[in-house]
Amino acid sequence: HLDHALAQAKRQGRNSICFYQHPAKTTLPIGKVSLENALRLAWENKEFELWYQPKMNIASGRLAGFEALLRWHLHGTGPVSPAVFIPILEDTGMIIPVGYWLIEQACTDLRQLADLGIDMPVAVNIAARQLTQDDFAEQVLARLRQHRLPPQRLALELTESSLMQEPTRAAGILRRLRQAQLSIAIDDFGTGYSSLSYLKRFPVDTLKIDRSFITEMEQDADDRSIVDAIIRMAHGLSMTVVAEGVETAEQAALLRQLNCDQIQGYWYARPMPLAQLAAWLAEQQ
Ligand code: C2E
Ligand code: MG
Ligand code: MG
Ligand code: MG
Repeated sequence: HLDHALAQAKRQGRNSICFYQHPAKTTLPIGKVSLENALRLAWENKEFELWYQPKMNIASGRLAGFEALLRWHLHGTGPVSPAVFIPILEDTGMIIPVGYWLIEQACTDLRQLADLGIDMPVAVNIAARQLTQDDFAEQVLARLRQHRLPPQRLALELTESSLMQEPTRAAGILRRLRQAQLSIAIDDFGTGYSSLSYLKRFPVDTLKIDRSFITEMEQDADDRSIVDAIIRMAHGLSMTVVAEGVETAEQAALLRQLNCDQIQGYWYARPMPLAQLAAWLAEQQ
């Protein structure tokens, strides 16, 4: 099994040294072990984790929900960025079983939060390859039923580029999920190449403004205008707007002035494991 995985990794030319840009900006060498092979082993050994980042309702200052983010700690190396390992999961097709596992895990965690009296929506990121599986909508709805969760409790985040890979198919599947009351969000909004007409074509109820527009909002009048325009357009289309990567109180204040609905970022809370989330929630009250 291992030999097979290694041979495959070699064929795909990934048996090289990989680096991960840690948030602290240190570069961690992962070593000569193929990252793909390590990912297969991690999957077999159930080493992936889901962490949760709270989102805040900006008008009330209260919790608005969570985004589930995949985490993987490579032994002896530390956390590997999803930006590094998710493309490999996508290329190898592993993203499909991993993706169903994370929806299942998010449902289990939602159930646990609900039992604690926290009825907040959780958003999961969905890769293009998974969204366009024939039975994706049925698979998701079945898991919600199994866990006795109202479908409104689950949100799906998709990037513009992943929607545009097979737009007709994606639109059909999303329509079914939206009819079942799931929330559908466009992630990293403003960074894709698609035309705005797709906002009419896909049943989207939420836009998440990419962090790149938020970071320099205070200094950069152009970024501020873009954020302002996105918020107005989204509200004109009756959509909810979330700003990503809000790191300072100043950015939060500015977004509040611009009528942004929700904010997500280190200023409010960092992503954390479920166990830590319970403590964080208790602290908030
Ligand atoms: P994303 O969906 O746009 O997720 C937001 C990313 O911004 C997360 O990075 C989060 O940790 C980071 N972030 C949040 N607040 C701040 C902030 O204030 N400052 C900065 N600098 N960063 C902030 P993360 O967890 O590294 O994930 C990166 C990307 O990987 C995600 O971007 C998403 O596209 C993808 N990803 C993560 N988890 C999953 C997953 O379960 N499935 C799929 N298909 N993709 C995932
Ligand atoms: Mg996301
Ligand atoms: Mg995003
Ligand atoms: Mg982003």
